[in-house]
Amino acid sequence: MYYFSTNRTSVDVSFRKAVINGQPDDRGLYFPSEIPHIGAEWFARIGTISAAQVAFDVIRPYVGGEIADEKLFEICRETLEMDIPLVPLTERISSLELFHGPTLAFKDVGARFMSRCLGAFAADEGQKTLVIVATSGDTGGAVAAGFYGIEGVEVVILYPKGKVSRVQELQLTTFGGNVTTLELQGSFDDCQKIAKQILSDGEMRSKARLTSANSINVARWLPQQFYYFLAVKQWHGSEPPVISVPSGNFGNLAAGVLAHASGLPIKHFIAACNVNDVVPRFLIDGVYSPRTTIPTLSNAMDVGDPSNFVRISEIFGGDLERIRAAIKAYSVTDAETVDTIRNVYLQSNYILDPHGAVAYRSLANYLDGKLNEGGIFLETAHPVKFDAVANTLGNGGATPASVAELENKSRHSIEVPNDVDAVRDIILTRS
Ligand SMILES: *Cc1c(COP(=O)(O)O)cnc(C)c1O
Repeated sequence: MYYFSTNRTSVDVSFRKAVINGQPDDRGLYFPSEIPHIGAEWFARIGTISAAQVAFDVIRPYVGGEIADEKLFEICRETLEMDIPLVPLTERISSLELFHGPTLAFKDVGARFMSRCLGAFAADEGQKTLVIVATSGDTGGAVAAGFYGIEGVEVVILYPKGKVSRVQELQLTTFGGNVTTLELQGSFDDCQKIAKQILSDGEMRSKARLTSANSINVARWLPQQFYYFLAVKQWHGSEPPVISVPSGNFGNLAAGVLAHASGLPIKHFIAACNVNDVVPRFLIDGVYSPRTTIPTLSNAMDVGDPSNFVRISEIFGGDLERIRAAIKAYSVTDAETVDTIRNVYLQSNYILDPHGAVAYRSLANYLDGKLNEGGIFLETAHPVKFDAVANTLGNGGATPASVAELENKSRHSIEVPNDVDAVRDIILTRS
């Protein structure tokens, strides 16, 4: 197994190199040279295979022997040390809850898997790795939680002062240890700019191996396949399910499509989008035209030019008809999102977060009039993270113990001016 760039001009690399590089020089995305096939006999006994073993069986061919089997199994086991239950809400609709990890959103799984891969590589090579990540809130928390305590890896997180939610700030600042959190006097774009400058800084590169924990990294992208296998493991319908995926950058859906291509028995996918509808419009008219991002209640999906869509296109060799057969797309407004949160609470006594609500609504729209079909939507975040839920229902649900605990921890963050040299100095003195 090797990885090539979707832009086809950078050199092919191993899994290890793809993880460390993050992105090929030609600004394409890494893509596996083969899609492994998983046979029907394996799926026939999936109900009896442990979650960790499912993950190991799925990911092993992609790692291509670059991490020893025993270590890889341990990484899979630790990555999935959280519940991922399939909860039926109606006779035909079930929720796959991906919010039981430390930061209450699905990005925890990818961050945990990637951190442990980098830890394994650092141990092999005896070389420290420095991870730099700019965050607007959620990604940084997942990375901090995923990388905390991983030996051989130092993490620096840059977040914009005053622009993240209270819960997000707690998740970003309560680690310490190998996680250094910098509160930048600037915007998220400033954070990103400084992170990029440091990642390409010659002096910094000579002192440590630098990498970003960007969501396009294959070590964050590929393990998202686990959700779909664990959904099928828990599905008891007589027909394969339709799976609705709340989508922004389309990494999660691209992982699902990859799983499907390797044999996962599902009917097809639903790309559930908010009004940032580049992909739904592409499926209608075949024209891919990125747009300026529109802010919505499901803000982790506010993406006007989804970077992972190229991976979906790659899986289907760019064939629009094949993409249309595998993915139905819907676009949901904020008013419909709020309406769905209210109705599902009244009908099923279940509290959706805005992202899950977009996915639920898209699935319900699809199922309308199709009485013999049923499906699963991915509930990607805990409702307590969003004020819109409490504002709609007068009740955001119980605060999970993991958040309550953070309130009592001490905070570690360093306020820095919006200046690359100041950030570089702090990193050099700490690493
Ligand atoms: C990141 C995120 C999404 C979108 O996932 P993509 O892989 O970017 O499509 C959906 N819901 C939540 C809560 C997220 O954090």
